[in-house]
Amino acid sequence: RAMSSVTIPPPKCMLRPLEVPFRYLFGPGPSNVPPRVLAAGGRGIIGHLHPEMYEIMNDIKKGIQYAFQTQNNMTIAMSGSGHAAMECAVFNTVELGESVLVAVNGIWGERVAEIAERMGANVHIMVKAPGGVFSNGEIEKALAKHKPVLFFLTHGESSAGLAHPVDGIGDLCRKHNTLFLVDTVASLGASPIFMDQQNIDILYTGSQKALNAPPGTAPISFNERACQKMFNRKTKPVSYLFDMAHLSNYWGNDGQPARLYHHTGPVSGFFSLRESLAILAEKGLEESWRHHKEVAGYLWKGLEDMGLKLFIQNKDLRLPSVTTIAIPEGYNWREMLQYIMKHHNMEMTGGLGPSTGMVSVRGMLKF
Ligand code: PMP
Repeated sequence: RAMSSVTIPPPKCMLRPLEVPFRYLFGPGPSNVPPRVLAAGGRGIIGHLHPEMYEIMNDIKKGIQYAFQTQNNMTIAMSGSGHAAMECAVFNTVELGESVLVAVNGIWGERVAEIAERMGANVHIMVKAPGGVFSNGEIEKALAKHKPVLFFLTHGESSAGLAHPVDGIGDLCRKHNTLFLVDTVASLGASPIFMDQQNIDILYTGSQKALNAPPGTAPISFNERACQKMFNRKTKPVSYLFDMAHLSNYWGNDGQPARLYHHTGPVSGFFSLRESLAILAEKGLEESWRHHKEVAGYLWKGLEDMGLKLFIQNKDLRLPSVTTIAIPEGYNWREMLQYIMKHHNMEMTGGLGPSTGMVSVRGMLKF
């Protein structure tokens, strides 16, 4: 028998057609994708370095600038999920040993703290129970104490259902020479955010939540202050793939006449993202925010009329895109989720990270 003969047969599963069930995606993401966005992703592939692709990327950049309310030139979409944007933000703006401050009131702060720790930053955390709100006074005290180069806050804390206030924090960060990094993966398009007006230095989101595109791309934007810091580093960022020096060229942001090959972007993912940003532009941000608020208000009322308690008590602090319910005592949240999925084809999820341990008593279901 020749060494090159095939000994592993074709797997039987591969000889069956792909099956994907219909699901109502009422978890914190991914969301159901409208046919127009799905169709955009199903278009024929073109090269990632074709001029037509550059045009599409330029459109995406404009769509993100609108969605973020920013004029930042350094605006791109990551080839990767929300985590790619989290790592890109931290890896590019922080150098080994530099101080980073992270507000932890759910899983996303925990994650960013771990990402910063892994790359060798000197990480300080401010901790609250899931859904807790940090006052500007508390934040300023911590900025003064730790003198971080970067401060991280989650705008839409999907693991708790909280929309954290952002006003005034950007100004405090400026005063203390800190870059202000905000996560809007779960909130962009659903809850107002104004990158330029709120002095947010770095902002990112994901494609698969309120933008209603498939998972796999993640818009991110850096302002001039953030660019000053990240392009005047002494050392190269730990990641080649996420190095903004390369990515800014790929997105035509560095003023160079040619875009050089760095990596092959997710062409279909960019088609879909462009279409979802186009829908947001047609609809308008104010209408999108209003719509989410209206639908969420209806849901909150219905749940409360059923006798359920919402996890975030203050209505003004509730995230319109992710509603969290305190699980009534004596109920098993896993069984409830399985029942809803089995009988209604609806996906809802339990708490995550620090909110997981609480689910049996006052856990959460997410819509
Ligand atoms: N931040 C927040 C607030 C999120 O809700 C999520 C996704 N649930 C992420 C970051 C991570 O995004 P991804 O799963 O796309 O990597």
